[in-house]
Amino acid sequence: GKRSYRWRRVLLKVSGEALAGDHAQNIDPKVAIVVGGGNIFRGASWAGSSGLDRSSADYIGMLATVMNAIFLQATMESIGIPTRVQTAFRMSEVAEPYIRRRAVRHLEKGRVVIFAAGTGNPFFTTDTAAALRCAEINAEVVLKATNVDGVFDTDPRRNSDARLLDTLTYHEVTSKDLSVMDMTAITLCQENNIPVVVFNLSKPGNISRAIKGERVGTLIGS
Ligand code: UDP
Repeated sequence: GKRSYRWRRVLLKVSGEALAGDHAQNIDPKVAIVVGGGNIFRGASWAGSSGLDRSSADYIGMLATVMNAIFLQATMESIGIPTRVQTAFRMSEVAEPYIRRRAVRHLEKGRVVIFAAGTGNPFFTTDTAAALRCAEINAEVVLKATNVDGVFDTDPRRNSDARLLDTLTYHEVTSKDLSVMDMTAITLCQENNIPVVVFNLSKPGNISRAIKGERVGTLIGS
């Protein structure tokens, strides 16, 4: 394909499940990361099955993302990548609080900034946090790392003839109810003209390719 960009700054969204993999990947300094927590705790499903109120469950979910962030930080620093973790609510013995201008400064100094605790609010997701932080720090794209190659026309786990879609519009995502990211996240991207690249994290080299703007996965835009 011809699709190729030179992103100056990117927001990489890594779900909890993707983090659980053991793939060595190169991560460039112009990168901020929003980390999920679904491998440990998902608020909505717990609230549904246990009767726990949704807000409490979501705060536990946000704390789960902090665990993943500390884990990711330690792992990245063990391979020589300088990082800072910033949390959406204060945990000042553990990490810096989120301060937008400070996050940008870290990026300018070549550090990878890991944003933890989502948006800090229940009823949101880390995908929405990714869209929000991307807009705030003036990153050019949300790179959504998943365990599938991108967005398909039908479920690839159920249909062997499912076709990988190269590009999609925001409207196609919302009107066809494609489960790419939740509505709040995708409409926030749409309103701020933030392209989203959905790609497979488990393929070696894919993070570098996505960061470099090489053709990978599915590109969502207007
Ligand atoms: N969460 C939240 N507000 C946010 C981000 C996350 O309440 O802004 C909670 C929510 O309960 C969610 C959990 O944290 O289920 C883990 O995040 P998410 O499901 O987005 O993680 P991922 O699917 O990316 O691993």
